[in-house]
Amino acid sequence: MDHADLTTWLEIDLSVIRKNIRLLQEIAGVPVMAVVKANAYGHGLIEASRAAVQAGVQWLGVARIDEALELHRAGIRAHPIVLGYTPPERAGEAAQAGMRLAVYDSRVAQAYAAQAKAVGKPLYVHAKFDTGMGRLGASPEEGVEWMRWLHTLEGLQVEGVFTHLAEADDPQKPTTHWQLDRFDALLSGLEAAGLRPAWVHAANSAGALYFPRARYNLVRTGIAIYGLNPSAHAPLPEGFRPALTWKTRLTSVKIFPPNHGISYNYRYRTKSDERIGVCAVGYADGFRRQMGNMVLVRGRRVPVVGSVCMDQCMVNLDQVPEAQMGDEVVLIGQQGNDEITAEERAREWGTIHYEVVCGLANRLPRIYVE
Ligand SMILES: *Cc1c(COP(=O)(O)O)cnc(C)c1O
Repeated sequence: MDHADLTTWLEIDLSVIRKNIRLLQEIAGVPVMAVVKANAYGHGLIEASRAAVQAGVQWLGVARIDEALELHRAGIRAHPIVLGYTPPERAGEAAQAGMRLAVYDSRVAQAYAAQAKAVGKPLYVHAKFDTGMGRLGASPEEGVEWMRWLHTLEGLQVEGVFTHLAEADDPQKPTTHWQLDRFDALLSGLEAAGLRPAWVHAANSAGALYFPRARYNLVRTGIAIYGLNPSAHAPLPEGFRPALTWKTRLTSVKIFPPNHGISYNYRYRTKSDERIGVCAVGYADGFRRQMGNMVLVRGRRVPVVGSVCMDQCMVNLDQVPEAQMGDEVVLIGQQGNDEITAEERAREWGTIHYEVVCGLANRLPRIYVE
């Protein structure tokens, strides 16, 4: 497809997302919660969620209640669960839409119960424990008593218990086993007290792949379903593929004379006669304003020169003299025999690839292919 009507866009292969999820289901041997927060890591909340449901997913993990409501409004047939904090003021909406909320604080839990009673619908909750992430969660050591109390709150249905791993993407570190030992101690206590809920989950993508003991009866996988490695220390097994390609186009090709300034503040000057292309992508799309970016034109790597502007940037095309206005430029993905991965973009930008894909702006058209 040539998408001649577009200047910068994302191509997302939903069949790749489905295949990645099926691989994960096989490897983990338990149901997969597709984590689709942050617009499905830039891939598009609704479309990625539909693909996940087609692959058999029944749980969709989000960070905020508004993401869960969007799924509800789109009529997606899977349980959205809000993994982060939800203000009690919104618990009535959550109960009405049948979504699941994380709960870890007593006062908030009481307020949730009151809201659920007010709307006359049970609110399903998953109790979140902090076994070592240093973020949200109740204390696992006091967990049995707390869960006993939670069960007494009319209006709440305690459906799950979960925790989150801090260093599963570095499998050599002992942290994950230490966290899981604490979680297992809590689970034994709950079991003995007859309080173990139906669903128990702990693993993110790296946890699901590298720590079989972390799988329990549900894994919460985000990065892996999009075909991206959890980290360099925790790569995906064979068979996974990235679902997303980011493209733009050359909107101009011109030869500039030597010592000609390029872009704002002339942070780059031509050294000789230089063939300079303009790309229709800028920092407002999520392409960082940073020197030293490389992109692919006609299967070859070319440098971005001068400051990246809000909506455009310039490239030196001396290595690709045949390049023409209208040519596709690849920012993430394959072109010809070369590929720029989200990981490589992240290294260039001094961050991790999670941030690169989550930073893909909403204004970028997302084209879904199969
Ligand atoms: C984001 C998130 C995940 C998914 O993590 P990945 O590393 O992308 O698999 C799982 N659980 C929680 C609580 C999260 O916030």
